[in-house]
Amino acid sequence: MKKVDFTKLTKENILSLQAYEAKEIPCRVKLDANESPYSPVADKNIPLKKKIFSILNRYPDPEARELKKVVAGYFKINPDNILFGNGSDELIYYLIVTFGGPVLYPIPTFSMYGIISSALGEMNIAVPLNESFDIDTGKMLAAVREYNPKLVFLSSPNNPTGNCFSYDGIIKIIEASNGIVVVDEAYLPFSKRKSFIPLLKDYKNLAILRTFSKIGLAALRAGFLIGDRDLIKEVNKVRLPYNLNALSQIIASDVLKDKRVIQSNIKSIVSERKKLFRELSNINGVKPYESEANFILFRVDNADIVFSKLLKLGVLVRNMNGVIKDALRVTIGTPEENNSFIKALQKAIRRHQ
Ligand code: PMP
Repeated sequence: MKKVDFTKLTKENILSLQAYEAKEIPCRVKLDANESPYSPVADKNIPLKKKIFSILNRYPDPEARELKKVVAGYFKINPDNILFGNGSDELIYYLIVTFGGPVLYPIPTFSMYGIISSALGEMNIAVPLNESFDIDTGKMLAAVREYNPKLVFLSSPNNPTGNCFSYDGIIKIIEASNGIVVVDEAYLPFSKRKSFIPLLKDYKNLAILRTFSKIGLAALRAGFLIGDRDLIKEVNKVRLPYNLNALSQIIASDVLKDKRVIQSNIKSIVSERKKLFRELSNINGVKPYESEANFILFRVDNADIVFSKLLKLGVLVRNMNGVIKDALRVTIGTPEENNSFIKALQKAIRRHQ
């Protein structure tokens, strides 16, 4: 058979990339991926099961009309302002395919903004956050003026730092940009802050990203973009047909129809986050950062060692060392999972000191 060196065929900008690592590491307590510990779908939901089984032979609704109606009702917006993606990751991809670069974002932040820009060969500009992990508005505005970015991504609350960015800073960036400013509100359900959605009527170049992944439905791979109908129209041109599968459409619609389950799960996560923050603050050698998301970033003396020790004790967190020195990120789990994590961390730190 002919020998093929695929690296000789790969485009130059892809050759230097690293694949996004979503490793499946076996563990007892999984607190690494900012998922919800609760599934909002009840096992006994017979009508939902029946509905799913009866439609498997057909392609899904390409426009996800039923789900669009439910989401539009939930946010009191027009269905024409919504576009669904196979996770919000896909929408980040579509946005960059549609509008191109330069793409501007602060760092550290969600890595896909940079990974997708690079994969598509678009210029990306990363401006460091300030000491308090807020956007450095002066430097962001200077970058807007210098590079005239087509897209600015602002994750607020930010992953992995957990804080929301300054409201005034975001507004200044929207007002100064000729391009589109995407406020990624993946973690907003866990924050007391207001959504930027009502500001869509004031700013045509504002777009909002939301996801079902953090509120208990990560397996569905469903996210949505909210923006001006003309913006949605452009992005929709690059969307692959049937990108949101039928199971995801049906389950997401069903879950959203009764907000109570999701809201009560969010409430538990927020109250566990407060408890976990206090407990982390009480451990010598651990510095947690205040969070408005479903995770907490914390610093230790040696993140690599503590990460491995936690894993040996069965607890998987995300090692952010390399992005933020000696930082680990823990997702808020059930009270039992959080207790296991705290006990394991106390042991890991004690052995380390
Ligand atoms: N935005 C942010 C800020 C995230 O942290 C994540 C997931 N880690 C996403 C978007 C992507 O979410 P999904 O593709 O699961 O909707």
